[in-house]
Amino acid sequence: MKNWMKTILWTLIVLFVLFSVPSPKPSLAMKYYAFNRLYFGHRLPIIIPVYDKTLDDDIIGQTTQDEHGQFHVRINPKNNPTQDEENNTLKHEMCHVETWVMDDGDGDHGIAFGRCVRRVADDSGVDWTDIY
Ligand SMILES: [Zn+2]
Repeated sequence: MKNWMKTILWTLIVLFVLFSVPSPKPSLAMKYYAFNRLYFGHRLPIIIPVYDKTLDDDIIGQTTQDEHGQFHVRINPKNNPTQDEENNTLKHEMCHVETWVMDDGDGDHGIAFGRCVRRVADDSGVDWTDIY
């Protein structure tokens, strides 16, 4: 086989492999880390959000704080069918983490929360109502 044929053959093999292997869905932990860097200046505590299928059907995502001050972010996979929806829900919950103390510590959608949502929406190029 001639060298140019080998080059073309290997190029086709590499392209086939690159495009046939599905890229893995980024984990919630990876997204949380990335969003914390991009939209929160790494100010949020390091936590690992989880999917929780046991959340009530009307809950899209939930942030709570335990007695040790540790935040828990749960995403309802049933109500976040697309990556965009999941991303927006995660941003919403991350604003709860950022504003927990300012908004009375009960996951309230208060003034500080609203400011956070608008800032993150602007920075990430989505409509604020998609996050609120
Ligand atoms: Zn909320």
